[in-house]
Amino acid sequence: MMLPTVSPMPAEHPSTPAALFPDYVRLSRSASPTYAPFDGKVPAKWRKAARKKGFTIVDRVKDRLHVALLCHDCGCTHAKRVSVVLGHSPECPHCIKHQRIEHARTVGAVLLGRDPKNRHYGFYQLSCGHRVRRQYHRVARAADGGHSLGCETCREERYRAQANKFGWDLLGPASRGKPGYRSYRHTCGQTQDIMVGNMVWGDCACSGCSLGRTARPSHIYIFRIDLPGRPVLKLGYSARPAKRLRHQLGIDKGITTEVLRVVNLPTGHDARAEEERAHRTLTAQFPDMVVAKAEYGDAINVTREIYRPKAAPLIRRLLDEIETRFPDTGERFPDIAA
Ligand SMILES: [Zn+2]
Ligand SMILES: [Zn+2]
Ligand SMILES: [Zn+2]
Repeated sequence: MMLPTVSPMPAEHPSTPAALFPDYVRLSRSASPTYAPFDGKVPAKWRKAARKKGFTIVDRVKDRLHVALLCHDCGCTHAKRVSVVLGHSPECPHCIKHQRIEHARTVGAVLLGRDPKNRHYGFYQLSCGHRVRRQYHRVARAADGGHSLGCETCREERYRAQANKFGWDLLGPASRGKPGYRSYRHTCGQTQDIMVGNMVWGDCACSGCSLGRTARPSHIYIFRIDLPGRPVLKLGYSARPAKRLRHQLGIDKGITTEVLRVVNLPTGHDARAEEERAHRTLTAQFPDMVVAKAEYGDAINVTREIYRPKAAPLIRRLLDEIETRFPDTGERFPDIAA
């Protein structure tokens, strides 16, 4: 069987590593592939359906279920199941590939090849030279929106350079995988998780050697907030709990509030770690005790850490346990009773 002459696919980008992505290269060379012919007529109904969808049926190929389609847009041929031609909207793999190459070019990248493990992903070389794996549709969105593709490697190198200015080294992801945080090591050897946004400004005290914000004594607290018809508890940490309750939570002045309990901790770093652990325990083991933001809305200026009054004994038990691990030094910190 003779297939019609078709226009050749555009040349690959010179940097395409054919050896790395044999699959991809196979597709790019198959603009006019030869399929095993299959004897049989092409019914007029099939031809009509194909034409309506932008293709010409060149012949029947492979087996009784397939036809070779010539794409009216790009002039390339590919094999398709007849059922797709009749019942669906057949897509031309060559046109899709052209689009993907074009999207990559628009965002300053080069499409290297497809991910053989996931058909939605391809490999790209970014303008910085790093290679990344990206979802095609995200690249298309970036191209449509005029954005470039971000490079994680370059981003982490930037974070490292920022940290170096303040005597820290970037170690990697935060120890608990918390988004927005990274694990850093101070020149003194101390390792801790710090918010990337704080590191940009050097706003980060080393709990190993400095008396900065997170190295000063702090507290874990329980507040009772008597929202009308819906009293709730707030568990949190703060260097100045009373100030936090009165001035930072945006609670209406007419609402009765009370500091139910305060546990002293040697540093803000400890307080935050213990507080986060307590929240994890509560949300994992007693999800019914958690009050959703939708329930209290703007009445309290936080998005989580709010519990039902019934949770008081559970929270007290957690705080008792923290207290046994951090026996009180006897020092009293200012505004607890303020
Ligand atoms: Zn096409
Ligand atoms: Zn890069
Ligand atoms: Zn230090």
